[in-house]
Amino acid sequence: MRISFRNCKVYSKFMPLEVHDALVVEDGRVISFNEEENARDLGGSYIIPAFVDSHLHLDEIGLYLNSLDLRGVKSIKELRYKLEEFASRTEGPIIGHGWDQELFMEGRWPSKVDIDDIVNDRPVFLSRVCLHAALVNSYFLELMGMEGDGIVKENEFEIFRKRIISMVPREKKIKYMRDAVEHVASYGICKVGYVSCSLENLSILEDLRRKDQLPIDVLVYLNSEDLRNYDGKSSMVKGIKLFVDGSLGARTALLSKEYSDQGTRGEQVMDYNKIVEYIEKANEYGLDVAIHAIGDAAVDIALEALKHARNGKRIEHASVVRDDQLKKFKGIDAVVQPHFIISDFWVLERLGVERARYVYRFRDLMNETNVAFSTDAPVEPVDPFLTLDAAINRGKNEFIDLYRYTEDQSLRPNEAYHCYTSGSMRALGLDCNPLQPGDEANFLILDRDPLSSNQREIKILEIYFRGKRYFKDNKR
Ligand SMILES: [Zn+2]
Repeated sequence: MRISFRNCKVYSKFMPLEVHDALVVEDGRVISFNEEENARDLGGSYIIPAFVDSHLHLDEIGLYLNSLDLRGVKSIKELRYKLEEFASRTEGPIIGHGWDQELFMEGRWPSKVDIDDIVNDRPVFLSRVCLHAALVNSYFLELMGMEGDGIVKENEFEIFRKRIISMVPREKKIKYMRDAVEHVASYGICKVGYVSCSLENLSILEDLRRKDQLPIDVLVYLNSEDLRNYDGKSSMVKGIKLFVDGSLGARTALLSKEYSDQGTRGEQVMDYNKIVEYIEKANEYGLDVAIHAIGDAAVDIALEALKHARNGKRIEHASVVRDDQLKKFKGIDAVVQPHFIISDFWVLERLGVERARYVYRFRDLMNETNVAFSTDAPVEPVDPFLTLDAAINRGKNEFIDLYRYTEDQSLRPNEAYHCYTSGSMRALGLDCNPLQPGDEANFLILDRDPLSSNQREIKILEIYFRGKRYFKDNKR
């Protein structure tokens, strides 16, 4: 099948910027930018390559599309109200996500006491926005044979999370996964790096692919424990995901100097020898290595460990990077989440203004290496235009403190779009341009010029994956 468009502006590449005024697609691939006689008149609309989100969590997205949404909750009282409402219309274990104690007017962390009177006959697991801590009820603590105030962090968080997810039946998990890929596709994202994937979720994805129910390409980064039981045979698996530290929000990101608002340097969650051991296993399978490192001391450890990796190397987040570390990123993809700038509005309280210039330094990283964009969804919203706005404006319009100190790290629109297309593809090991003759025809038709408009106002008119129109409702 051949389709062609004219009377449009096609941005086929963002760095260097390449612009055409027509597009021809045949059998799912870009053929040329020649104007054809029977081409569809787009009336001055804009065509761009579809987005590539290099780091997100499909299982969590699916779960949170189907669970209690606590993002933006402003008080423990409101959290209680939402839990009560959700509990009244559901059965089985309760999973919720998205609270942030920084937003609570009570000015404190929640505890089990805040929820025990609402649900005491089934487990409750409410993860913090960062996915490194959760609030659980006494019922769940007892079930796990544990004591505590109801806040579980890092390794404990993972143990509780695994347990509650193991209580969700497989049919539900399949539905969640389909919801997740369709949610992502509806924002014009054609490929994703699915990090921290389990073997169970890998098998669900492979089933969906066999049944032709995957509108997008999924490249999987297995979580490290599952690597032990992996047979090395899935064409979907691209790499493994390892962790050095936690998050700035929970003060578990590993810093070389203490936090400015507490006498701690954070936590190292996986020991160095273990990391290297996993990297060597990844080498055996020919897999890439993606290492989560947020604090600068974690980045040191990741940079050192990645010297052992033989295939693709990625550092996930790289949120706090010192000057002396920048050069060492050469050959390592920096997989960043610009929307953290907006969500982590408190970041300078944690780090102090003297460390402000180390934070989310996307321009400095771009000068040294390939920078890939991502959302870490559901940590941040899937919507690419929110991420682009954050990369371009750095929270200027939201009055984010960090902006005042790091305005110079703002990216130009074409640079931001480059990171979200070519940059992400490179981090996923895809050696191609986003929209050149011969490439898969994954593209979007937009209502206005993405390079000169307010990103938040841009609407997607049509989405094409492999030359075929994707007909589910566009979320933008
Ligand atoms: Zn993540």
